[in-house]
Amino acid sequence: MRIALYLGSATGTSPAYREATVRTVEVLAASGHELVYGGGSVGLMGVAADTALAAGMPVHGVITRHLMDGETGHFGLTSLDIVETMTERKERMASMADAMVALPGGIGTLEEFFEVWTAQVIGVHHKPVALVDVEDYWAPMLDMLDHMVARGFLSQAHRDNLIRVTDPEDLPAALDLWAPAAAKWS
Ligand code: AMP
Repeated sequence: MRIALYLGSATGTSPAYREATVRTVEVLAASGHELVYGGGSVGLMGVAADTALAAGMPVHGVITRHLMDGETGHFGLTSLDIVETMTERKERMASMADAMVALPGGIGTLEEFFEVWTAQVIGVHHKPVALVDVEDYWAPMLDMLDHMVARGFLSQAHRDNLIRVTDPEDLPAALDLWAPAAAKWS
């Protein structure tokens, strides 16, 4: 499978974020998967790309022309698509991928994660979406999702269908075993 990885353009304050990124990519490489990501060299994005290349894993980057300088487009990749808009970037990444995984990151990571997860919930695609939770990074967001369920704005079935792993070793099996829930409105 090709896995789209969404993750920070910073490395965050804990070394655990970098360690989990390395481990996640190594585990996916060992399972024979390919990587799709945002194409930059900075932060956890750069850590993921360099780890994948060192492991001999094919890595496909998709970056906008505008971000080539700021996020330092990575020229060592298997392929690097330079597109014009963020919308194109996200569409290209999602259509190239068979599964989507978010590691700790900032608002760009959140935006990408919610775009692909909401698309799954309404049945636009049937690809697994997963969070790798490191030192409870995603806990406040998961609390918010539970609050949405409690207040009737998100179904328990869709909440439960979001994959969360704390150990990257568990990711390949979780992606393999995932089955879509009935789409909202179906
Ligand atoms: P961040 O999580 O904010 O460090 O950003 C992670 C990645 O998400 C970076 O490659 C950002 O360029 C990207 N990003 C930020 N905003 C958006 C957006 N609106 N759509 C798609 N990607 C974005």
